[in-house]
Amino acid sequence: MKRFLIFLAGMALLAACEKPTGAEQQNTLSVSPKSLSFQTAGESKLSLTVSSNIRWTATVANGGSWCSLSAYTGEGNATLDVTAVTNLTDQPRTTEITFAASGCSPVSVSVSQVAGEAQDKTVTQTLTAEDLSWDGEKRANVTYQLNVYSFADSDGDGWGDLRGVTQHLDYFDELGVSALWLSPVQTSMSYHGYDVIDYNEINPKLGTEDDFRELIDMAKARGIKIYMDYVLNHTGNENPWFKAACVNPGSPYRNYYVFEDKPGESVTGGMGQWYSSSSGELGYHGLLHFKLDATNASQPKLTITKTTDNAQSGNTDTSVKWFIYDNNAIRMYKTGNNIFEITLSINNDWGVLVKDDATLWDDHKWGARADDKLVEFGTPKTLVKGSAANDLIFGGTSVQYYASFDASMPDLYYGPAASAATSPAFKDLVASVDKWIQLGVAGLRLDAVIWIYQKNTTANVAFLKQWYDSCNTLWKANGGQGDFYMVGEAWCDNAEEMAPYYEGLPSNFNFYYWYTLKDRIGKGKGDDFATTLVSFQKQFRKYRSDFIDAIKLSNHDEDRAAEDLGRSLAKEKLAAAVLLTSPGKPYIYQGEELGYWGSKGKGDEYVRTPIKWTRSGAVPSAALSGKVDNNMLSAEISVEAQNENEASLLRLYQCFSQLRNEYKALAGGEMTPVNTSSSALSAWTVTSDGQTALVVHNFSGSKAAASFGTQDLSRCVALTGTATLKTTSRGDVVSDRVLTLDPYSSAVFILHN
Ligand code: MG
Repeated sequence: MKRFLIFLAGMALLAACEKPTGAEQQNTLSVSPKSLSFQTAGESKLSLTVSSNIRWTATVANGGSWCSLSAYTGEGNATLDVTAVTNLTDQPRTTEITFAASGCSPVSVSVSQVAGEAQDKTVTQTLTAEDLSWDGEKRANVTYQLNVYSFADSDGDGWGDLRGVTQHLDYFDELGVSALWLSPVQTSMSYHGYDVIDYNEINPKLGTEDDFRELIDMAKARGIKIYMDYVLNHTGNENPWFKAACVNPGSPYRNYYVFEDKPGESVTGGMGQWYSSSSGELGYHGLLHFKLDATNASQPKLTITKTTDNAQSGNTDTSVKWFIYDNNAIRMYKTGNNIFEITLSINNDWGVLVKDDATLWDDHKWGARADDKLVEFGTPKTLVKGSAANDLIFGGTSVQYYASFDASMPDLYYGPAASAATSPAFKDLVASVDKWIQLGVAGLRLDAVIWIYQKNTTANVAFLKQWYDSCNTLWKANGGQGDFYMVGEAWCDNAEEMAPYYEGLPSNFNFYYWYTLKDRIGKGKGDDFATTLVSFQKQFRKYRSDFIDAIKLSNHDEDRAAEDLGRSLAKEKLAAAVLLTSPGKPYIYQGEELGYWGSKGKGDEYVRTPIKWTRSGAVPSAALSGKVDNNMLSAEISVEAQNENEASLLRLYQCFSQLRNEYKALAGGEMTPVNTSSSALSAWTVTSDGQTALVVHNFSGSKAAASFGTQDLSRCVALTGTATLKTTSRGDVVSDRVLTLDPYSSAVFILHN
């Protein structure tokens, strides 16, 4: 009887699992649906609903090798994710999930998945880039270098001017530019402005101080800063400082320049020359008697004396082969056995030479030894021939001055480098910078800084540090935010020689960037480009951790980038894309974005060509004395035409500059070279603040391909030319992606955002 009662009680408990009745607690467990079918071979997810009032557990048969649950135990009701990983076999498969709860019958759910693909599948697709959606904010530090005199003319006088720049601020907005480096705007002697007469005045050819203020203010309103070009190595010889120094030995401005009574002894390492100050005038101006003793034909002796005799017009006896050259070859008179003489009125600013032929040079030129150029009146000087012969320069009682570049550009003198900031020239120049900072100038480009102390790097750096600190102090005193920007033209032979200049300045032009880029494009070899850039950065970092690498293609003193690239539009596009995807602070030089070519060999003017704004309009060429290449300045190279042509170089510059402004990784990211199996390809990533972009360029004239493994290349944000992506996968699992780029093409991908 007792056994029968226990049996009855057990029967009641089992029944309660399915049919709870009354207030008695009954354990329940049900699951739906009872079967799951994964209809794809790839990873996918389905869900199950568990209904229970107690704790339950779940297990997947066969250890759950391909099927998993979001939870294996729970209490009460639950919704579970069931995930199937990719089926890499060509067979369908099944398994079973079993749920159990105390006092309840187990509940089983059958699970199946369709067959996968056993073979790799390769799909090749043509890449397309996302549309650009730049918000207009300028994040990328893109700077535009312009020659004010040939950029845009506002008043029709043929000279580019400051108002012309102001009128084209839209152009810079389109180009994503956040700073303008203007060619020198101070009063100067020449069209280019690198021979300043007054550091405190605006060159009237370019406009007024009000025009400059207006440009600064209107540019600032668009997030565009103005950088001035400052010439610290020298002034123009019409600068009142220099004129006063020449005429008056007691002038305080004597200390602004390098004057010597006995030149040639205190300047070493420079490329310059000594010139006579000649009481305020250059060279020699007056009557001189020349006597040449050619008894020893290989070592003739010349004696020059001052005279009051009348000048002679030159011998007509063509049997005499000796000439005095002072811009004209004038035949001497034979006055004895191997003795030749003449009296001439000399009026030039450099000196004289002797020649043994009126028109030929090379071995027909006779002059002074390099260490003995100064003429001492009345004292015979033994002459040397050909390439060893230097100008016979006049000094005598007059004082000489030193000029690195040209007689018209006397070098400034700052005294010993360690105390340069105490020199009067330094103080006057800093005071002029104060004026321009107050007007709103936000940075300086420093001209020719390696020559300030004649390539003495230690001295130049000591000078520049004082100069920068003085200007930065003024910047902050005038309410400037952050540190003042300053970039040096420390044009050295290589990056290693230039790197120490980072001790003096926050930014320097990286000439070696362009040398490397054009060399590699020429060779069709991109694989070491990024590692070379990183090696430059390593050099710079030794001297300044927060260095600002001012990268560029060509500038106003170099052959045009397009000229170096053989006037190939495809290569110009590549160079532009590389520049605007490289780390650093890129500079675009006036006309580069239009594909201007030109060589210095024809004259500096030909690398400083005016912008052709419209198809038919005139260009501001007066400053260049009309020296422009009108064949190049076709209607189709104009801004108007290129703006209308989606495939133009200008549009590519706009696109890549805007892209750089849109993505912080491109704007300021840290570069990491990426090795590929292709020697033609240059690839790197740039990362900033969690965002990573992959940049790939084909430096060669052939298609180039490389595997990027399983890297996700689904977000292409810029593309030039045609590119394909070959994806190898099995089922939904990608095992390889191979990118193929057209010749000279570029692609940019966002990897992480
Ligand atoms: Mg004008």
